[in-house]
Amino acid sequence: MIRLSNIHKTYRMGTVEVQALREVSVTIEPSEFVAVMGPSGSGKSTLLHIIGLLDVPDGGSYELFSQEVSKLKEDELALLRGRVVGFVFQQFNLLPRTTALNNVALPLHYSGNNRGGTKAQELLEQVGLGSRQFHKPNELSGGQQQRVAIARALINGPQLLLADEPTGNLDSASQEEIMEIFQRLNEQGITIVLVTHEEVIARYARRVIRMRDGMIQSDQVVRTSPPATPPPFSGKKGKRPFPEGKRGRAFHLKEWSLYLGQAWQALRANKVRSGLSMLGITIGVAAVIAMLALGRGAKQAVEQQLSSLGSNLLVVYPGSRQTRGVALEQGTVTRFTFEDAKAITETIPSVEKVAASAFQVVGVLPAKGATGWRDQDDLIIIPMYTAMHRLLGKEYVDSIDIQVVSPAAMEATEQGVRELMIRRHHLPPSLYDSFQIRNLADIVAAVSESSRTMSWLLAAIAAISLLVGGIGIMNIMLVSVTERTREIGLRKAVGARPRDILAQFLIEASTTSLVGGGAGILLGTAITLTLSQLAHWTTSVSLDAVVVATVFSAVVGVVFGLWPARKASRLNPIDALRYE
Ligand code: ADP
Repeated sequence: MIRLSNIHKTYRMGTVEVQALREVSVTIEPSEFVAVMGPSGSGKSTLLHIIGLLDVPDGGSYELFSQEVSKLKEDELALLRGRVVGFVFQQFNLLPRTTALNNVALPLHYSGNNRGGTKAQELLEQVGLGSRQFHKPNELSGGQQQRVAIARALINGPQLLLADEPTGNLDSASQEEIMEIFQRLNEQGITIVLVTHEEVIARYARRVIRMRDGMIQSDQVVRTSPPATPPPFSGKKGKRPFPEGKRGRAFHLKEWSLYLGQAWQALRANKVRSGLSMLGITIGVAAVIAMLALGRGAKQAVEQQLSSLGSNLLVVYPGSRQTRGVALEQGTVTRFTFEDAKAITETIPSVEKVAASAFQVVGVLPAKGATGWRDQDDLIIIPMYTAMHRLLGKEYVDSIDIQVVSPAAMEATEQGVRELMIRRHHLPPSLYDSFQIRNLADIVAAVSESSRTMSWLLAAIAAISLLVGGIGIMNIMLVSVTERTREIGLRKAVGARPRDILAQFLIEASTTSLVGGGAGILLGTAITLTLSQLAHWTTSVSLDAVVVATVFSAVVGVVFGLWPARKASRLNPIDALRYE
């Protein structure tokens, strides 16, 4: 089952090298009960961690079920940790704030075992804690906590149970209870390797390996007992010890609902901290929504004002020609008559109304520039023929105003008027530019374009505050990962793959930012409504703003959660477990 040959492990701390294991070779058969003994610092735990796939040796070969462990991929190791090996630690390593039942069921999350719910309950009953299922670790005694940890190690039906000083923190009555459980498990065929420095404990084992200075000093069978029932799985050569029901790579709804549940638990456990980091995102998103709404409102207001001036107006002017660089007076080439205006109405269907004008101001007033090229305030209105015949004495009009049926028909109408005028005045191509048609919609477009730029600028400023919120989340995630490093180590020790850890923290980060973002949408809308009510500002919350803000907050969560989550997922289980 286990074959170690010439295993080395050296720890380096600065310039000091500690040879924790040197040339250790040992073979353990199925159904054995082995106690590893020796003084403190002799390498017992290091050996057990290597056997339990929590640590990797520097040299030598380790075969588990005839498979060379160093050739296994990280995900395969995780599967073995979860399904084949059960580990019991001296410090129990239970998840705080989690009930005994959920602690026992934890490895099920990573093994994809669906039938485990009742099994956790059964196991708790087997270790005598049937009535304590819903108690949290801090409501249990040391012995009870260790029994929960044993039930957890057994949940996936392992063939190998490893225990590192499992009774080291317990009183003698609890010690006895725990050792009896181990003995019973061994009788059921489970292989047990137990590290201890107490002779009383070693007496339960059938084989004792004594270590000193990283080497095996002695290895003897101390007690023979009737052979146990054969283990549920005996590795065949060349066959990987993967139990049936191998986890697929596909998307599992159950897996994700589990990650969500974990994220929710973690967020609830640190309410104030989570609340503060959500607040950062909330303010950012609210700012984006409110700024975009104000920007859009301003744009709409400008457009409204402009369209009241008539965005569907065309004005036909007789132009002037340039002769040797000097512009001639208007109308020197093409002069429009009242008949031209009539012809426009009659010929072009998209023209709604036509007004010809000849109102010329005698004397120049300073231009106020209300609509771009003329000031409506500077006009005198006189009946057309009176002006033309009596006042000005001319046969032609200065300009023709055309109201088009809709802004959409502007371009076609402009083209139609142009062609009509060319035809009526028999203009040769060289004189096509001798009159001009001006289009008010162009001005409206230019103004609304600039107000659009303005609203994006506002949104960009708001996005910066969202970014700052994101950095807040990253900071909190880093703290959370550091604080929960031992938990990550434990999760990996019971079979979590790196991507399980990654997903857990990513979902935690994106839940934070999405909840914060949701609150931000509400707050942003409230601010917008208040402003339009109290200050009478034109505002408009748009669906795009809400979508942009939601997507942005999710992205912030993922991007800023990614780094701490990756950091966590790559930790070596035992390094994470030892983290202080
Ligand atoms: P035991 O379980 O027999 O007390 P360990 O296997 O824990 O011994 O440790 C063996 C040696 O390796 C000790 O000298 C210990 O100081 C050293 N050691 C163990 N873990 C580390 C580590 N992470 N970093 C540095 N030295 C370590």
